[in-house]
Amino acid sequence: MLWCHIEVIMIKIVKYPNIILNTTSKEVKSEEINEINALSSEITTYIKNKCYKGFGTISLCQVGILKRIFIARLPAIELTVINPILIRAFGGTTKSWEMCLSVPEFVGKVRRHKKVEVEFLDLNFKSVHITLSQPLSRIFLHEVDHLDGKLFLDRIEDKQTDLMSREDYFSRKSRKDEQ
Ligand SMILES: [Zn+2]
Repeated sequence: MLWCHIEVIMIKIVKYPNIILNTTSKEVKSEEINEINALSSEITTYIKNKCYKGFGTISLCQVGILKRIFIARLPAIELTVINPILIRAFGGTTKSWEMCLSVPEFVGKVRRHKKVEVEFLDLNFKSVHITLSQPLSRIFLHEVDHLDGKLFLDRIEDKQTDLMSREDYFSRKSRKDEQ
């Protein structure tokens, strides 16, 4: 069954508090490979053109498709991650600021493990088994949360200190950068 007609897809980011973002995404099957390939390149182009400095990560639920895939376009790598599994998270935890296209108003400081051992399928449906450190480990955990219907907002420990408007965050950051 086709779940995406690439000819007609309009990439529109689903925003908080849309219920889609609280829904668990479904496993991808191998017969869906052609659609995934087309969609992956479409989203990579979207990130390149629309995201800050052309880099970012988008889970399919963020464009309204509840399939376990996320697409990352980062300075060193372009990657489509299919059916990711978190084998273990280790190396202690650390808090860092996170942003999300689906939560455009806020940034949040989130505690995550520093390292993860993960398994996923690439665009050829080949299994990849890898250990990631920061910042990739944080990105991976943020995106797997999306596929499980969670946002960084759900992981904020202290709203007073760990949640900020994006506007405040950037004005504080630029003041800091000037010093
Ligand atoms: Zn996100």
